Parts: sequence; structure tokens; C-alpha cells
Amino acid sequence: MLNSEIKEEMKKIAVKNAIEYGKARQSAVISKILSKFPDLKANMKQLSEEAAEIVDRINSTDRRQLENDAERYAEEFKREDADRAERSAQHKFELEGADIGRFVTRFPPEPNGYMQIGHAKAAWIEREFTDKYKGRMALYFDDTNPEKEKQEFVDAIRRDMKWLGIAYDTEYFSSDNIDIMYSYAEKLIEGGKAYVCSCTADKIKEGRMQGTRCVHKRQKIEKNIKLWREMLNSNGGAEGMILRLNADLKDDNTTMRDPTLFRVKEGMHYRQGTKYSVWPTYFFNTPIVDSIKGITDVIRSKEFELVDELYFYILDCLGLRKPRVHSIARLEIKDNLTSKRKINDLIARGLLWGYDDPRLVTIAGLRRRGILPAAIKSFVMRFGMSKNDSEVSIEMLLAENRKLIDAISKHMFFVEKPVKVVVQGIPEDMRDIKIKLHPGTGMGYRRYRLSNTFFINMYDASKLTKGAQIRLKDAFSIVVRYLDGNQITAEYIKDGSGNDSAKVQWVNEGNYMACKIYEIKDLLAGDEFNSSSMIVKEGYIESHAESLDVGEVVQLERTGYFKLDNKDGFAFISL
Ligand SMILES: [Zn+2]
Repeated sequence: MLNSEIKEEMKKIAVKNAIEYGKARQSAVISKILSKFPDLKANMKQLSEEAAEIVDRINSTDRRQLENDAERYAEEFKREDADRAERSAQHKFELEGADIGRFVTRFPPEPNGYMQIGHAKAAWIEREFTDKYKGRMALYFDDTNPEKEKQEFVDAIRRDMKWLGIAYDTEYFSSDNIDIMYSYAEKLIEGGKAYVCSCTADKIKEGRMQGTRCVHKRQKIEKNIKLWREMLNSNGGAEGMILRLNADLKDDNTTMRDPTLFRVKEGMHYRQGTKYSVWPTYFFNTPIVDSIKGITDVIRSKEFELVDELYFYILDCLGLRKPRVHSIARLEIKDNLTSKRKINDLIARGLLWGYDDPRLVTIAGLRRRGILPAAIKSFVMRFGMSKNDSEVSIEMLLAENRKLIDAISKHMFFVEKPVKVVVQGIPEDMRDIKIKLHPGTGMGYRRYRLSNTFFINMYDASKLTKGAQIRLKDAFSIVVRYLDGNQITAEYIKDGSGNDSAKVQWVNEGNYMACKIYEIKDLLAGDEFNSSSMIVKEGYIESHAESLDVGEVVQLERTGYFKLDNKDGFAFISL
């Protein structure tokens, strides 16, 4: 029998079908239910009988009753339609209005921190559209805040883009265009579209909240020009003066309530030195740089939608060409952090190694953890142009990565909390051993000369009793003779007896070295730092690990995938 949930679903489909086409059809009900529950294909006979019965019943119901039923389902129908539209938008991967051969976009990081996975999503989407529309892509450093930006971050962003494999055709900086910004500011002032204000921050905030203007909004244009020149010529002495857009303090869109366009910021800019002390804000800068650099299509995350009106308004005031703006959802990783302030705080408290800590979803952190660029790409691209904000588990990215590393990672044995096992009676011809580096072929072997002394994991050892037979994996079977505190004595037995209770990983004396593995867990527990986010385990790894390169990924059998982080203490990081 089909369960009641499925029957209810079929009835719903039939009702909808009947309302839309006058009559419900059995084939429509079947194909729709199968697309929702593909497993039902195994019960086709039953399914078509049930569908026939439901369709008959619906088709003999009078229209008024049907409309009542449909009304009951209306909310669900609406939600399903919306979901479908969303899914097809995701699949469509198109930008409205974009032209092949006439497409220019940009990736606009502010060099005030490291790239993280959300940036990688934006940059990959921009790259993919650039290829699709045969256009050009720029890396645009939006750097007009001397207090926060650093060359170190510019270099890190370039390095991360390169490592991710995201090519771009050109590179430019906001801060190289400050003189042009000044001339556009002057144009706004001359047109009565901007004024110099020296109110306190609190006063400005209050005015925006209550929709009340300050005395400066009524200043004459000549006065504003004079004050603006004073700002520019004060060498930073005009602190507290800002240039504001002369818009509407009562606007429903709060970003339109006379936003700040320029402010005085003293100090050394990493690129421009002390050349400027009056700096444009993001609001002013971005539309103008986009327009003059020939950007045709801007892709930015949905939370900036409110800023669009301001973006276009400024271009209108200045008579500049307007790019098309498209929005996408923001990508957040559950129980992780991207806030620079919070990350800096954890680094300062010694709880994180740095911006490349493998617990972080910075690109540097993911690289250090052993995530491949291709895994990052397929992970971020699956969200495509969806506008549904998503907070996803890192597990999804790790799974994507495992698909790629499985075939290329060497297998090795790791023994945590080693317990000594002395094996007697090993025949001479069993002492030279070779084990495949990968169960598939082609990767070669690890070869060892075996002595009588082995080490196995304490958990495996704790299960052994006298007389127990186990297999030392990929070597031979042994039977336990004595258990004596910290040591087990066992005897070699010939294969084929088939009585092994377990296969255990091992290392042999003379063929191992001490190592450390870092197991990575979620960075946060609730809103707090998870003090168990990194668990260190110590043990022995077989000596073939010596031949691994730093950065190489291995599968430690029965423990998981790990990346060799450094060779000093043979430290591995979990994947
Ligand atoms: Zn004012």
C-alpha cells in the first residue's frame, strides 16, 4: 500500500491538474509524483492503480468542491511554484541583459582582510559569467580607508585568486582615482546635490532617524564649495567635516538619507602614502569607478540591494553610464566565522594559529587544511545565482573534497596510543613485505623489512583476549598467546584459517615514526569559540610517510583523510 502522505500528495496534484486543465489526468499525476518520490518507480503497478482511482474521484467531484479543496492547498501550491522558479533560476545561470562579447565585470574586495569562501563564490561566479559571455573581468581593490587597508592583504588576495585558479584580465585600485573622485564631488556640490556638514556623529544619526535636517543642509552652494576646498587643503585638520549627499532625510530607504560621501581620514595609506586626507566612501566610489572603468554587469550579494538606489542616483546626478546590477545570496558556513574583528580577537588570544588556521573558512585556512581549489569551485558553484541565503555545513565542502582526493591519496597506517605486540614464529619469507599505496593500482608500494615487534592501537589491543586471532592488515594473521600489562605476545599463523576476529592497522619497529594529528571540529559552539575545535592525537605512522610532501593528502586507514602540514613534528590535519 502507498502511505497516506503519498496519497495526499497525489490528491493535491490531481486537484491542481483539474483546476488548471478542467480535468485531472492520470499520466500527469504519475509523472509529478515520481519527480517528487523517485523511489516509487519500483511500485509502478500499484501507483498507476492508485492514480487512476484518485483521478476518477477528482474528476467526478463538482467544481465548487474542487475549488474549496484548491483553496486549502493554495499556500502549498504557491510555495512549490516559488521553489520551482528558484530552482530553475539556479540552473539557468544567466544574467539578464548581458551581451556576448560586450561583458565586463569585476571582483571588488577591500584589502582589509583575507579572502574567505564567500568571496570565492562571488569571484567564481564572476569568472564563469565572464567566460560564458566572452567578456573581461577585473580585480578591483576598493581601498579608500587608510586605517584598515594593507599591502599584505592585497598580496594575500592576489595569491588566493591565483591558487583558486580564478584568472582576471586587469587590476585597478580605487585609491588611484581619488583626484577624479574630487572633481566629481565638486560637480555634485555645484549642482546643489551635496553639502559639507560638521555636525557630531550623534547629531547626524539622530537627524537620519527622525528625518530632520541640520543647518548645513541649507548652506549656499558657494559656501559648500568654500568648505569643501577647506577640507581638501586642511591636511587632515578638517576632522569632523564630511561631504553628504543632498537627498531626502525622510526617504523610506534609509541609505538615501543624506549619506556620507567623503570623510577626513588622516594617516598613512598603504598605497598613496600621505597624499590624501579626504577619502570617498564606498557609496560614492563604487558607482563612479564601475562606470568609468567600463563595467557592464555588477554581481553583488543581496544585502546590498538597498544600496542600489543610491548607486544609480549618484550616477544619474553625474550623468554617468549605469552598469546593470545583479544580486546573489550570501554564503555562510554554519558554526564558523568570517568577521575580521572576531577572528583577530581569537588570534590575539592565542586560540587560532592565524588567518590560515585550518579551522577557518578563509581561503588560506582551507588551503592549509588540504581542500583542493576544484572542490571549492564545485561547492560554491552549486549555489549559482540562487537568492536564497544559505548557511551550510562545512561537511558539504569536505564531501566535495573527498570525492576528489579519494583517488589520489596514498593509504597509510596510523597507530594511536601504541601497544607493543611481539610476534613469534614469523617465517623468513614473510619478513619482506610490500603493501599497495592505494587499493586501486598504479601508485606503487610501501616496502618494509619486518622485525618481531609491532605496535597496534590501544583500542584494538583492549579487545584482545588470550587465544584471539587477528589479522595484521595486509601482512598476516596472529594468535594471542599472552597478555601482560603493556605488552602482548602472539604467534604467527598461516593464512587461510579464516578465523580472524578483526583486521588491525599496525606499525613495525624500525619502520615507524612519531606523529601528531589535528582533528578539526566546528569552530563555534553556539556563538562561542568551541574549545574542542581542534583535538590533538599522538601516535605512530609508518615510515613511508617520510616520502610525503608537505601539503600532500593521505588516507590514514580507519582514521580518515589527513593533510601533511609540516615535517618537523610530522603533523597532519584532518579533512
Ligand atoms: Zn550638519
